[in-house]
Amino acid sequence: MINLSACPMNAQNLTAVLVYFLTYGRFPALDKLNRPLFAYGKSIHDNCERRAHYDSGQYVEQWGDEAHRDGHCLYKMGCKGPVSFQNCPNVGWNDNTSWPIACGHGCIGCAEPDFWDKMTPFYAHLPGFPGFGQGSNIDKIGFWASIGVTTAFATHTLVHLGKKLVGTGGDHAPEGPPERTDEGGAE
Ligand code: SF4
Ligand code: SF4
Repeated sequence: MINLSACPMNAQNLTAVLVYFLTYGRFPALDKLNRPLFAYGKSIHDNCERRAHYDSGQYVEQWGDEAHRDGHCLYKMGCKGPVSFQNCPNVGWNDNTSWPIACGHGCIGCAEPDFWDKMTPFYAHLPGFPGFGQGSNIDKIGFWASIGVTTAFATHTLVHLGKKLVGTGGDHAPEGPPERTDEGGAE
C-alpha cells in the first residue's frame, strides 16, 4: 500500500508514483507511514519560502498586520509546518498555482496522521511543539537568531575587508592560468 496522505491528495504526487512504477517496475522508497520519500521526506518548514523570516525572528502577530502583508513567518498564527511533511512548497497545488502558506495561511498539518485531532487548535501553538515549546520564549529565540545572523554578516564583511587590505583580493582574486594535467592540455 502506498499512502499519499493530504486533504486532499496531491494529484502530482499520485502521477509521480504511477510513472515511477511504470518506469522501474517497483515503487519508490517509502517512509514508515508508507509515504513516498520524494514527496514526504522533508518538512514543510524545511522548504518554506518564509523560512528566512522564521530564522530572523520576524513573525505575523495578527491577521492582516504589516508582517502578514509582508509575507513573514506564520508560526505564531499556529502554522504546523515544522511538524508536517509534504512537498507542498515545491510542487504547490492546482498545477502549482499556489499553496497555503504562499496565500498567507499557516499549514494545518493535513498530511500527518489524525491531523484533525492532533494538530488542533489550528490557530495556536501545540503543547510539546518541537523547537520552542508553546512559543513562550519565541521572541527571545527570534532576538538571538537575529543577533546570530547579524554577527555572521559582520564577521564575513570584516574578513572580506581584511583580505582586501592585505592585498589578497579575497573572493575576487583573478584566477591564474589553468593547471596543466599532461603534456597535451590543461584542465
Ligand atoms: S513556521 Fe510555517 S510559515 Fe514559518 S517558516 Fe515554518 S512552515 Fe513557513
Ligand atoms: S501546506 Fe500543510 S495543510 Fe496545506 S496542503 Fe500542505 S501539508 Fe496540508
